[in-house]
Amino acid sequence: MKVVAVPAPGRRARASLSSVVLILGFGSVLGSGCGDPGVEPPPPLTPCEEAVACTRNTQEVASGTFEYSVSRYDYTFDLTTRQASSRVLLNVFQPGGDCFSIPGPAGITNPTWNGSPARVSQANGMLGVCGTPQFAGQVNFESNYTVPEATYFYSQVGFSRRPDFVGNTFSYLLGWVESCDLFGPCDDLTNRLANYTFTVNHPAGQTVLCPGARTSGTTQTRCELLGTQAPTYSSFAVASNPRWVSTRLVDSTAAQLDFYEIPEGRLVDALDANAVGHFLQWITQQLGPLPYGRELRVASAPTEWLGIEHPANIILREDLPLLRQDYANMTMHTLMHEVVHQWAGNRTTLESPMDYPWKEALAEYFTYLYEEQNRNWEAPQTLAYWDKQARTASYYLRPQDNPAPDYVSFINDVYGTGPMILFLQLEPLIGRDKVIAGIRTFLSIQGTRSIDDLRFALEAASGANLERYFQTWLVGSGEPDWPFFAVTHAKANGQLTLTVMQQTLSNVVYPCAVEIELRGDLASQKQLVTVDFTLNPQSATVTKSISAPSWTVRQVLVDPGNKLVNRKATGLVREPKSAGWVL
Ligand SMILES: [Zn+2]
Repeated sequence: MKVVAVPAPGRRARASLSSVVLILGFGSVLGSGCGDPGVEPPPPLTPCEEAVACTRNTQEVASGTFEYSVSRYDYTFDLTTRQASSRVLLNVFQPGGDCFSIPGPAGITNPTWNGSPARVSQANGMLGVCGTPQFAGQVNFESNYTVPEATYFYSQVGFSRRPDFVGNTFSYLLGWVESCDLFGPCDDLTNRLANYTFTVNHPAGQTVLCPGARTSGTTQTRCELLGTQAPTYSSFAVASNPRWVSTRLVDSTAAQLDFYEIPEGRLVDALDANAVGHFLQWITQQLGPLPYGRELRVASAPTEWLGIEHPANIILREDLPLLRQDYANMTMHTLMHEVVHQWAGNRTTLESPMDYPWKEALAEYFTYLYEEQNRNWEAPQTLAYWDKQARTASYYLRPQDNPAPDYVSFINDVYGTGPMILFLQLEPLIGRDKVIAGIRTFLSIQGTRSIDDLRFALEAASGANLERYFQTWLVGSGEPDWPFFAVTHAKANGQLTLTVMQQTLSNVVYPCAVEIELRGDLASQKQLVTVDFTLNPQSATVTKSISAPSWTVRQVLVDPGNKLVNRKATGLVREPKSAGWVL
């Protein structure tokens, strides 16, 4: 658990190898898959891996800390006692060693290394684990831990029990960015994808949700994420409410969506099942089949965030229809946003914690695209909300502040700037079709992606050089110095000449195109003009001449559609920051 912005190394390594010794004579009793007696076997190694693990252990093996990647977590959790048992499968990188280091809590018990007792120390949030030397292959690290009933970061992250709005107890084990080690040993770096199984023991008849393919018994529910890999931030999740009942909202080729809600719940009634089904068809046409299978579970719960995107398993806040309607339809917007995260955040995930903006920006942008094309009465309100959040943002999307911004404050700050700067503002500059093509490339391969990767994908799709755009709009420290647009107009010889000047405190000139609306005396007297500063502006001032309208221009509005981040007042006058939602 760190939740700090640090460049992630390519693979987990906390110490370098200290020495090399010869280990002889252990032969085939060392590695998992090599015949450990009395231990439930982990998934079989491939023949190649097995050969390496079993034969090279008899040769040179380094003592010291080895590097590894975690391929799978098997996590068992008792909902009543909070007792967890964890099995972590590590792929050992050659030349191996006899120790590894992994984030984990103090207080784990019964640690074993391929079935034999392991030596474990804990300091500064890291477990040092030592056992039988291993050249390559796998280490199967098992341990037990009692998860505290506690939450962190002024959020619901952790394990909590709280009443829903009619008093039923909602239990939630909620991981997050760099937080899976709250629940046991876990490599919590963002750029890790793994497979998982969750086995939850619970009181008889209680409904329990967890990510992936789910099978439920009377006192045990099991979920498997054994196909498409998933990141730790969203995968560690167990949610339960004893009075949830299931409603099948959608059953189509795109998805089978079951909604879990208490009988008094508000969300199923607030959703139009046909609209949800139509959206699921649309988004799977845009991004491909749901990455974690056709089954999608959505539940209503007393959460602080509006929604959370566990793989194949979405949790929505129970009072969405009652909240201030910053989005025209809070319930539908949030549901769509979390569905987009199945691709953007889950299947394709963050290279580093500071890449958080792209996943929120993509979830918002695709939700907006759907609204604009299918629910166009809702889209303008989404843009107005983004614009308000962006104008009053506290940080750039790639903040250079020293010290770095508080991470929670930073990620709460990106819901307007992200979709506007990364996507919406690029539409008039490179074309919406190119923006979408770039996104599809960016999301096409399972793995980890950075904001730079997004720029490269957009550049490849458009042929444009976006370096100056990204540098100007995304990089900076302190409160963003967004432009104010001063507009004057003059009429002569049947032409109306608009002069548009960008004003900033630092005199930086932003690559952009800005819409100007001219208005006359009558409501019908309106004309929209786009003034293009281009991706490589040479001046803070651009003039544009058009055929003068037949009516007299009385008023000029800058960015009437809320499509460009800009100040509404010049100089140091600042609009008050508005409270925003996290979803
Ligand atoms: Zn989100």
